[in-house]
Amino acid sequence: MTDQSLASFAKGSLLMREGEAGDCAYIIESGQVEVLVQRGGEILQIGTRGPGSIIGEMAMLDDRPRTATVRALEDCNVMVLSRADFARRLETADPVVRMIMRVVITRYRDMMTRTQNILPPPGFQTQAEQVENSDTSHDVALSALKINQALKEAMGKNELLLYYQPIIDIQRMKIAGFEALMRWQHPEKGMISPGVFIPVAEESGLITELSKWALGVSCDAAKSFVSLLPGKNAGPHPLFVSVNFSVKDFSDGDFFGQITHTLDKHATLPENIHLEITESLLMEAPDATKLALEKCRAHGLSVSIDDFGSGYSSLSYLHAFPIDTLKIDQSFVRSMIGSPSSMILVKSIIGLARNLGMKIIAEGIETIEQARLIRELGCDECQGFWFSRPLPFKDAQAFLNNWQAPEME
Ligand code: C2E
Ligand code: CA
Ligand code: CA
Repeated sequence: MTDQSLASFAKGSLLMREGEAGDCAYIIESGQVEVLVQRGGEILQIGTRGPGSIIGEMAMLDDRPRTATVRALEDCNVMVLSRADFARRLETADPVVRMIMRVVITRYRDMMTRTQNILPPPGFQTQAEQVENSDTSHDVALSALKINQALKEAMGKNELLLYYQPIIDIQRMKIAGFEALMRWQHPEKGMISPGVFIPVAEESGLITELSKWALGVSCDAAKSFVSLLPGKNAGPHPLFVSVNFSVKDFSDGDFFGQITHTLDKHATLPENIHLEITESLLMEAPDATKLALEKCRAHGLSVSIDDFGSGYSSLSYLHAFPIDTLKIDQSFVRSMIGSPSSMILVKSIIGLARNLGMKIIAEGIETIEQARLIRELGCDECQGFWFSRPLPFKDAQAFLNNWQAPEME
């Protein structure tokens, strides 16, 4: 659905008036208009426009007053493009396109202001420049663009790494697997958190390349961990590496095909890889996601829902989607001791998982009290700083080799 409509203006009538608010642009289909500006009480014609021209386009990006008056020189037919319609189109556009649109329009306004005011004194900021400089969304877009470019280069320079956080089978006190967590080892800025660069990569689409890379590296790590796992440390289930995926991974291309291609390429068994996705992914792309996940599951890959309970209240997707494991959000674990309502929630989530035949992982275990409690509540697996922080590959190998169940009593 669009808000585009047609309008006619008789010769001599005004399409828009300088200084007035405007919330639409016009594309001239037939006829001629003149563009007029007011200078010191005088009206100056600064140009004429004919079929195919767009006028009033600045109203598409902001709600500042019209900078010119436009009058029909002949009877005109125009197409009206509303700001709401434009905003909808822009919403689905690439962030770089959005940023360029904003910059171009701001520069254009600036140029108009300069031509109107003659040249401003040196160092003077025009109103348009102030708008451009104070525009935080522009700054954010620009820094996102910089991060994204640097991230692209980082991939080529091997600055990206995976760390592995052990996941412990808390009932048996064995190592169940590891979660792969991405790190960016920047030569000057040091270690950059995924909390900074993952959202940028998600926004730009680069995430699909990062995910592909992470899966390949995780496959090799999983093979190595499996080969290292001494019998006494092994639990009843295959040791796994859990890899995080984002919405874009599912919406761009053939997710299942890419996963199986990478597993084959790295000669890795599906049982050794778990796919970790967030609740929001299921909400945002239900059909495509469901199909892809069903194929993955049929192929032998396990699916975990990350940060469970943190986002959406709808539980209906739980039985509609093929899910093996729920990972209780860290915030519940953190507040469980001391907050009866958090405790009730944790118990309810564990009960829910049980009833649906799902496994449950508690994240963010930082103290022995939390570990004890979560074990008593019947949780299957857990991870957290109390057991281990995320480790570089070599340290994760050593963790496996040297594992001794910590004293819990
Ligand atoms: P997440 O998937 O929920 O990962 C768990 C985060 O909690 C990790 O943060 C981990 O270091 C941290 N954590 C683990 N145990 C504890 C604990 O006991 N206490 C506290 N306070 N924190 C703990 P990290 O590595 O900074 O990752 C942050 C988020 O970035 C991840 O949250 C995930 O959403 C995203 N991320 C990381 N790597 C990837 C990746 O390869 N792909 C995608 N798509 N996202 C990733
Ligand atoms: Ca995760
Ligand atoms: Ca999580």
